Amino acid sequence: MIEGRPLLGGVELGGTKCVCLLGTGADDISVRTSVPTGSDPHTTLSRIEEILRNGMALHGPIRALGVACFGPLDLARHSPTFGTITSSVKPGWHHTPVAARLQSAFDVPLGFDTDVNGAALAEGRWGAAVGLADYAYVTVGTGVGVGLVVNGRLAHGFGHPELGHIRIARKAGDGWPGACAYHGDCVEGLASGTAIAARAGVPAHLIPAQDGVWELAAHALAQLLHTLVLATAPRRILVGGGVLEQRPELLPLMRRQLLESLNGYLDLGAMTGDLDQYVVAPGLGALAGPSGALALAADALP
Ligand code: ZN
Repeated sequence: MIEGRPLLGGVELGGTKCVCLLGTGADDISVRTSVPTGSDPHTTLSRIEEILRNGMALHGPIRALGVACFGPLDLARHSPTFGTITSSVKPGWHHTPVAARLQSAFDVPLGFDTDVNGAALAEGRWGAAVGLADYAYVTVGTGVGVGLVVNGRLAHGFGHPELGHIRIARKAGDGWPGACAYHGDCVEGLASGTAIAARAGVPAHLIPAQDGVWELAAHALAQLLHTLVLATAPRRILVGGGVLEQRPELLPLMRRQLLESLNGYLDLGAMTGDLDQYVVAPGLGALAGPSGALALAADALP
């Protein structure tokens, strides 16, 4: 443990597993333990509390706890249901008051936000967006999510942005209806790991690199990048998540399709430099999500 830095607790609640951390930052992690998310929140949250307590018995008390959770979430500070999972499609987790439950278990300041917002913060603190006040973090996994930092702060309105669900122009000739339970062919419905597997009929990790499904997924994701570029002019866009970890060759496909989609309207190269340094993989890799919980804890310190 690095001397002089406060010990923090972090919990990343993901669609398939929850990662519990104790540490002072992404560069100094003392405990990292995962539990399956499952469909019984009470059991899972009890396990998480037990892991954190065991970690504190070894390393000392935490000064703050950060929780980075799959959404959608109620993030309105004065809402009676702040920190609750709202309309999740994850069985069993609908209306779970995650923040209230963990706040009552640990009497420390609590930071709470979406998993992708946490990851965006962590990349700005320790990863590929250090020093940038305007950037986007896109994750492509079970779903598609975006953490958007504008003027040094995460974009929040009545809640958190849900850019993975924007509607986009379809690739000519592609009439597949998409897999989003709410919108069909939104970006998540076309390019999440779930959607890619549904279209191909096999799990995404079994689909060969040369299969045309990747080009179609890259097209949908490039459309999302097109919107991000035009909406907030981020200085860099990080694209990570389980699908990109398995298929890093999606990144160059996305860069090419982004340029095609912008069609010369903006001279991205002149404004942002080398495109290979503009659309990039996260610096923290698979640790971006869990580190996000620690970043949220750090921000909750008085
Ligand atoms: Zn959708």
